[in-house]
Amino acid sequence: MPSRPLIGIDLGTTHSLCALFEGGQPKLIPNAHGQVLTPSVVARLDSGELVVGQAALDWQVLHPESAVSQFKRWMGEDRQVPLGPQTFSPAELSSLVLRALRQDAEAYLGEPVEQAVITVPAYFNEHQRLATRTAGELAGLTVRRIVNEPTAAALSYGFHRAQSVENLLIFDLGGGTFDVTVMEIFEGTLEIRSTAGESHLGGEDFTDRLLHWALQQSGQQLEHAQMATPKLVARLREEAEQAKRALSAGQTARLRLPEAEGQVPPGAPELTLDHAQFASLAEPLTARLQRPTERALRDAQMTWKDIDDVILVGGATRMPLIPHLLADWSGRPPQDKVDPDQVVALGAAVQAALIQDDRAVEDMVMTDVCPFTLGVQISKVFGGRHVSGYFLPVIHRNTTIPVSRQESVATLQANQTEVSLEVYQGESRKVEENLKLGELKVTGIPPGPAGQEVLVRFTYDLSGLLEVEAIVPATEERFETLLTHNVAGLSQEEIRLAQKKMQAVKFYPRDDLENRRLLHFASKLVGEIAPSQRSALEEVIDHFEASMESQDPKLFEHARQQLLLALSALGYAAPESDSENPDG
Ligand code: AMP
Repeated sequence: MPSRPLIGIDLGTTHSLCALFEGGQPKLIPNAHGQVLTPSVVARLDSGELVVGQAALDWQVLHPESAVSQFKRWMGEDRQVPLGPQTFSPAELSSLVLRALRQDAEAYLGEPVEQAVITVPAYFNEHQRLATRTAGELAGLTVRRIVNEPTAAALSYGFHRAQSVENLLIFDLGGGTFDVTVMEIFEGTLEIRSTAGESHLGGEDFTDRLLHWALQQSGQQLEHAQMATPKLVARLREEAEQAKRALSAGQTARLRLPEAEGQVPPGAPELTLDHAQFASLAEPLTARLQRPTERALRDAQMTWKDIDDVILVGGATRMPLIPHLLADWSGRPPQDKVDPDQVVALGAAVQAALIQDDRAVEDMVMTDVCPFTLGVQISKVFGGRHVSGYFLPVIHRNTTIPVSRQESVATLQANQTEVSLEVYQGESRKVEENLKLGELKVTGIPPGPAGQEVLVRFTYDLSGLLEVEAIVPATEERFETLLTHNVAGLSQEEIRLAQKKMQAVKFYPRDDLENRRLLHFASKLVGEIAPSQRSALEEVIDHFEASMESQDPKLFEHARQQLLLALSALGYAAPESDSENPDG
């Protein structure tokens, strides 16, 4: 019997993708627009319906107050994001994106899809991983595995070069996160040696630098402009994004300055920018890329000389300054054979094939590591005094997973019958500089002198989720917790309530998304064509918009054809459904 479909999802800061292992190969699944990149944006239309993806991105430019993007950056945080009259947690917003991808997969396969492998930045902490798993559950998906993005990239790459023997450095700069991973391929065995990174650094920060600069050039402050003229800022950010991308293809880029209401009329003032200017604006960001890269090499006990190839992953590595930087550090240009946008999703599909024991991957073995040090708080004795706040590592960073390790701690005072084990993640010797993951209370320690032993066992699974166990040897009593009930995780009851909330959400019909895109495209042109042509175009757009609501297919098709004709008479083609540039 064929196994039930298991899809691979790259849940990105700016875009998400969905893939499937089919006929011995990983393949990308197209969305309702025929594109493989789905913007990770959610919007609330005036009708109260929610849309996800390109239609939401289009809506955001004109109505920035009723759309949300980049919520991956808040995953694991205890915050509520307003969207119209409602609020959503970052996990709930992500679940809307996952739901849309799931529907695309169901439309493609013609059968229900209930299981997924989801990728996360390697540098995602426990809270962020748990929030990702919760997002999957809220989208009606059983999350079979959470995979680190660079590991997925390595799987996709290794799938095609399984028989080689080489060391690779995977440099993954996405929309909002940065990871570096060093791996070794040895005849079908893919071993991740080390991972390092930053979970709040990505291509969007480069766009923000451009936005700041453009505002400054026109004598404005971001905070003030955001309050006073949010539409101008939303449109200028779009211009900054386009300028950043234009610089990836050419020598200079121009950035048009919108008016207060976000319109960019013909003859709007412009700024131009070249590579040297962009590099100098981006300098504070590029400086932050070096340390994690060096640490990953050091942890893998390698130097640049040991690295055979550098693989670029994540859309932001398309900025020419990134390959230049790496060529500078490594002494040779990075290889450019993989598509940095697609490789992670394709790797998630390879991971799905590994889970399902697909014959095409039977000779592949993959090992991954825990990217952080995990441990507990302890006290130290200085001059006869107990000083608390120190970190005792239980699992060291870059240990191969799954792993289970044990350490011993002891009571501090005579007749102490309880110990509260505080669990932390991080690299600092003091816990205050690390991230608290949760707490485990150990009770019933038999009264006695100070120094009663408590054993602490950490088990870190293949999805990067941690289970903490404590054993009191004197009573053989066991205490355990999967760190799901901590500050940012949700209890089962909370998940049930969130599921109910998400089921009540009204969605804009998937089949109409393409028309919504055409409407947006045409509406945007209104402010950009010559004033003499404006009213004629507005008339056909109004007609089209009304026909979308009319439920009359004949009227609608007629109005659509009229709009397409009007656009072509003005020299514009309708947006293509499978264009390479999703923002085009
Ligand atoms: P990802 O999260 O991997 O989809 O990365 C998306 C990031 O890559 C966003 O910040 C995009 O602005 C950026 N990006 C995508 N294409 C390009 C390009 N051609 N040039 C520069 N940055 C790009």
